[in-house]
Amino acid sequence: MFPTVLQFLAVDTLGLYIQVPFCQTKCTYCNFHTGVVSSDRFAPYIDAVCQEISHHRSLFATAAIFWPKRFDWQSLRQIAHGPQRADTIYIGGGTPSLLNPRLLTRMLESLRAAFACSGDEVTLEADPETIEPEKAAQWVTAGINRISFGSQSFIDDELKAAGRMHRRADIYRAVLILRDAGISNISFDLIAGLPKQTHESWRQSLCEAIALSPEHISIYMMEIDEGSRLGLEVIRSGSRYSARELPSEESMAEFYELAQTGLQSVGYEQYEISNWAKPGFASKHNLKYWRREPYVGFGAGAHSFSGRQRWSNVHDSAAYVAAIHAGRSPIDHVDTVTPDLALEEEIFLGLRQLSGIDLPRIEREYGVSLGEKIGRLASSGMLEHEGNLVRLAPGKLSVSNEVLVELLR
Ligand code: SF4
Repeated sequence: MFPTVLQFLAVDTLGLYIQVPFCQTKCTYCNFHTGVVSSDRFAPYIDAVCQEISHHRSLFATAAIFWPKRFDWQSLRQIAHGPQRADTIYIGGGTPSLLNPRLLTRMLESLRAAFACSGDEVTLEADPETIEPEKAAQWVTAGINRISFGSQSFIDDELKAAGRMHRRADIYRAVLILRDAGISNISFDLIAGLPKQTHESWRQSLCEAIALSPEHISIYMMEIDEGSRLGLEVIRSGSRYSARELPSEESMAEFYELAQTGLQSVGYEQYEISNWAKPGFASKHNLKYWRREPYVGFGAGAHSFSGRQRWSNVHDSAAYVAAIHAGRSPIDHVDTVTPDLALEEEIFLGLRQLSGIDLPRIEREYGVSLGEKIGRLASSGMLEHEGNLVRLAPGKLSVSNEVLVELLR
């Protein structure tokens, strides 16, 4: 039995993702594969993405990707009232809100021509300083109904130290523009652990975010690694980028706890380690990642998952455009999801979610017995049970990796 295939075949809907890897500047903490390039490169990149979307079936075939008929909408068009095939679209980056809305509209039209899109949730990542009334109006006309907003902090000194382009006033200006344009689903990102952040400034950012009443809030913990300028500076014990003014790990843990308590007290439900939402506003698209539902990504560095395989495109945007123009597949990595790997993903991704994992289902589908280990972790206070569901105990969300190691040992 191959459980991932069974699960894959049971899922009717698909998530679609487009990566726009361009930014105005590089934030000091950023470890993403994004670049600061001339705006002359935007249109050729979007052309390549549209080509990749319209030729996805032949590109998959070239890369030995198994693509089942049930997601092949072009061969199913004749079926009237068929089930919707793609219910979420996410345009991420980078800073896709930098693009002329005409280019965003073109990409969405390409998706709609290649897949049956229901448009339930169409998210655009946007940075506050790029938001203008005309753009917002065109986003809504193009079908975008959710904005994920890189607010990060409401403290100008912290934004400046992190190399962000926007300031606190831009966040307020942008939220008004989005609400006026009719966007009724806004998500804020905040970062816990920025240089210069203190308990007091973190509390202020949280309070200001809550006062603006977004439907969704994501809180990310600052990661220090060699992939960012700030991370490298910390590793080298330097002082550039305010590297010596980072809050301690203990403070970051306290910031996280403060966010949990504060957000819960005003009605936000935590549904994942980094994500809180007002009732009914959990991100449908991101839930697909954590629930191991199928999604297809287009653009440089985009990832895809079919249940049976995971694959990704080449990261470099120039190499990506060159591959598409030459008629070559931009896919540079394909992994088969073995049953062992699938089990690991089920537990790791399941424990990230506050709903937890369905233990009997996992034991049945993967032919494993986890009861004894789970019992041990529950008695040491790491996990808790609720009926068939097992989840990380409150206060233990940050140790999901340790629990995973223990369960798979
Ligand atoms: S805006 Fe986002 S993707 Fe772009 S450099 Fe900053 S953190 Fe990285």
